[in-house]
Amino acid sequence: MKIAILPGDGIGPEIIKQAKRVLDVLRADGIKIEIEHGAIGGAGYDADRDPLPESTLKLAREADAVLLGAVGGPQYDTLPRESRPEQGLLRIRKELNLFANLRPAVVFPELANASSLRPELVENLDLMILRELTGDIYFGQPRGRRSLDNGDEEGFDTMRYSSSEIDRIARVAFDVARKRNNRVCSVDKANVLDTSILWREVVTRVSRDYPEVELTHMYVDNAAMQLVRAPKQFDVMLTGNIFGDILSDEASMLTGSIGMLPSASMDENNKGLFEPIHGSAPDIAGKDLANPLATILSVSMMLRYSFGHLESADRIDNAVKLVLANGLRTKDIAQPGCKEVGTQQMGDAVIERLTQ
Ligand code: NAD
Repeated sequence: MKIAILPGDGIGPEIIKQAKRVLDVLRADGIKIEIEHGAIGGAGYDADRDPLPESTLKLAREADAVLLGAVGGPQYDTLPRESRPEQGLLRIRKELNLFANLRPAVVFPELANASSLRPELVENLDLMILRELTGDIYFGQPRGRRSLDNGDEEGFDTMRYSSSEIDRIARVAFDVARKRNNRVCSVDKANVLDTSILWREVVTRVSRDYPEVELTHMYVDNAAMQLVRAPKQFDVMLTGNIFGDILSDEASMLTGSIGMLPSASMDENNKGLFEPIHGSAPDIAGKDLANPLATILSVSMMLRYSFGHLESADRIDNAVKLVLANGLRTKDIAQPGCKEVGTQQMGDAVIERLTQ
């Protein structure tokens, strides 16, 4: 396994340090892992005046998977747009052709109280949002603004998907469902949009290759409602880019703890970029306060989805579960009666569980 590690900015280096310790445990157990580090985001700008330096992109291209911390910080906010840290992230996703975004929303039983929903609605929630990342209205042409003959002005964008784009994301959804509970709910707006009618047809066609996976369809407005009404009804939710953008943020908030959620963006060959969903948290950077669990769980996703090492992935997930069950909490998920620990101590606890 050739892994490129890009710590980034703010709390990025602190949380990546703990995730790397997890990789070191696997390596000590005999799994062949090669690691190289690169700069991205503000760190890339500081090193090379570029948020995605050429050397980092080369490293990422040559790796089998990329582990990223987070990018951004107030000191970079006044830079011209193309030099801003976030551009590094957008560019690496595009350069690596990462079209499938996987965002699990998992609620560990001990943290059910952190959700804004009643605990019984989210306790043991485990749903996966699969969002198409490189098509749809965000990239469709034509787009722009134009003056109309009557002196009015309009803005316009084009929603579009080709059947091959839908086919390839649908296959990822069914493959992911096979590794979970064999259910896919495809979300669209086929009662209004032609793009969605095609979407529904292609997803249904692809489903015939996966007879063991149950496919259902849901309109996006209903899906938004069902996510806050009864989120446990879902296993894998498959969506296009714009619907997924909104639904994945809604789903992550069901868990109430941004420091706990990993994500993956994958290409056609299972190469992926794995990162926590949170940002660089400049307000707590360097204070040993950051929750490293989202990044550690990103390593687990990497093993599961890029390398098919399900056993190691389960091992990491279980170690995190046990640490939480033992009452250890970083400040962001602190609860009465639990022991509050820092970034390093949380890492220590996970490593201890992994090596027992
Ligand atoms: P943020 O996610 O960095 O922080 C939001 C809040 O959550 C803050 O109070 C922060 O302290 C807390 N938080 C986040 N991660 C945490 C963790 N692991 N442990 C404990 N607390 C945590 O979002 P923001 O404040 O809006 O953005 C800060 C910077 O991050 C900006 O420059 C933004 O552009 C960037 N950003 C980067 C990414 C990314 O790298 N993928 C994503 C979002 C924001």
